[in-house]
Amino acid sequence: MTEFRQYYEELEKKILSPYAALSSESKGRMHPMEKCPLRTEFQRDRDRILHCKSFRRLKHKTQVFLQPEGDHYRTRLTHTLEVSQIARTICRALRLNEDLAEAIALGHDLGHTPFGHKGEDVLNKIAKCGFEHNEQSLRVVDILEAGGGLNLTFEVRDGILNHKKDGKPSTLEGVAVSYADRIAYINHDIDDAIRAGVLGPEKLPKRCIRILGDSHGRRINTMIFDIAEKSFDKPAIGMSARIEEATEELRDFMFENVYLNPLAKSEEGKVAALVEGLFDHFMKNPDAMPEEYGKHISQYGCERVVCDYIAGMTDRYAIRIFEGLFVPESWRGL
Ligand code: MG
Repeated sequence: MTEFRQYYEELEKKILSPYAALSSESKGRMHPMEKCPLRTEFQRDRDRILHCKSFRRLKHKTQVFLQPEGDHYRTRLTHTLEVSQIARTICRALRLNEDLAEAIALGHDLGHTPFGHKGEDVLNKIAKCGFEHNEQSLRVVDILEAGGGLNLTFEVRDGILNHKKDGKPSTLEGVAVSYADRIAYINHDIDDAIRAGVLGPEKLPKRCIRILGDSHGRRINTMIFDIAEKSFDKPAIGMSARIEEATEELRDFMFENVYLNPLAKSEEGKVAALVEGLFDHFMKNPDAMPEEYGKHISQYGCERVVCDYIAGMTDRYAIRIFEGLFVPESWRGL
């Protein structure tokens, strides 16, 4: 067979920055396997993630607004796609490995609970084993997907685990995804909050708008261009102090005015009751979980596996299971 992969590996060596992660120099997979004749290791990981069931479930998981009825609100899936594209744009500009960034970005939120961060907070509070969505994303690709995990490369797994702001990814592509995640959510959450009527565009802090731009697209451009300017041919990725400060100020503003806004959070008490109800039920009735989860109890303990099952649910699946357990059904006749 024509040596497509080797050709591409050579191309990476020629065109990528000395600071890029080369697919031919990957630290490899937990279970060694023969390489694909066509695709590089990172291209293959991207495809493994794209085709997995957890990826498709992101479509019905909350980003910020719970189960929005409007067609244009972000979901966890569209957020993921925006992160992927922003990370690829940054990596293309910096001559880093776009395929690696894409794989990390597509996998970064696979472990997110239903109902956004509220779901995560509740699980973390009630499960003694603790719960963090980035660690859960790694569990999904390492253990839960496809019967025994996706067996991804070290670099993709590392980027998924370390995508949060306080993470320390070992590749620049991982750092690019971490920035891309923040750039994506700060900007698209502004857009969605305005759409939802939770935020008036005139409320956005004037100084941030003056520095970053007065539209969704301009603000994303400013942030990406700044990273490209500041980081080109450097062994680290960063923003200039001025843009970073304005971005952080905007992020803080979003926390105060949107993420913690009582209007956007009006249903959160119900989310807590629902997640707690499911957690208690499956802790008492572990046999009621599907076999693909139940089979892990002997190895990881009941609490961790109940977290796995609940975290894997979409918003609507969680509601359906809760209703089946706790809401009496109306009689429809025999
Ligand atoms: Mg994210």
